[in-house]
Amino acid sequence: MTFITRFAPSPTGPLHLGHAYSALLAHDRAVAEAGQFLLRIDDLDQTRARPEWEAQLKEDLAWLGLRWPEPCRRESDCVAEYDAALDRLWSMGLLYPCSCTRRDIREAANAPQEGVPTHGPDGLIYSGTCREAAAAERASPVRPRGVTLRLDMARACELLRAQDKESDLPKNEISFRETGSGPDGTTGLIAFSSDALTAEIGDVVVARQDFGAAYHLAVVVDDAAQAITHVIRGQDLFDATRIHVVLQLLLGLPTPVYHHHRLIRDPAGKRLAKRDDARAIAKYRKDGASPADIRRMVGLA
Ligand code: GLU
Repeated sequence: MTFITRFAPSPTGPLHLGHAYSALLAHDRAVAEAGQFLLRIDDLDQTRARPEWEAQLKEDLAWLGLRWPEPCRRESDCVAEYDAALDRLWSMGLLYPCSCTRRDIREAANAPQEGVPTHGPDGLIYSGTCREAAAAERASPVRPRGVTLRLDMARACELLRAQDKESDLPKNEISFRETGSGPDGTTGLIAFSSDALTAEIGDVVVARQDFGAAYHLAVVVDDAAQAITHVIRGQDLFDATRIHVVLQLLLGLPTPVYHHHRLIRDPAGKRLAKRDDARAIAKYRKDGASPADIRRMVGLA
């Protein structure tokens, strides 16, 4: 199997040392495996994406010594693919429109039951207020546009369990292969039950009112369209991987191997953010650092 990996930055600010680490790790691995390294521009959020950030990130990556085939995939060009995936999930009866505001969700979560998790990979676990209320709309064969759509996780799991009966997988288990590790060191075959998905993740947003497909939906469509065999990315996305695997199974897409890597932190131990301009690659370049210096700074020398 050819090794194909990717680096998928959002052009919403300068790339910093954490991005450099992720991109270099993926690129080095592709070179070592005689595989392919792809760059993907995650510019789904057109309210924040800027062409000047895209130009800057490409310049920084090329300066670091990275090479990739052009033209690279840009999410804003792939809306029809995301729409097709959403239509498919809608026709399977797995989506419902949600009109809850952040405040509604916060208030509904204010009376948690003891021992029940309140937070998942996307923040507060949705209480399901709109799930039943949307019954009539869900019956429509046409997917509503310009609204937030959530995945009915319990129903999705039910469907996967029914499919599971015909496979030799352990009952009720969904899994992926991890060659890096999660934040608590978990590695190898990561298996999880559908009950855990419903309790610990819940009904995640797959389409957003403001810009169509949400990240979780787009990332699985993109990785499959680019035939990615290995996803190399930060540990902050380890928990969300369960969502991605469920969507892959529902959409009949392959699950790549995942490698979640440590996060680069500032001296105070805080994870670097886009606004952390002091650690922007462009700033180091301006101050006379070399690509080898950047490698050393992120522990890849
Ligand atoms: N655009 C995403 C990010 O910058 C990429 C996520 C991924 O690699 O799956 O976090």
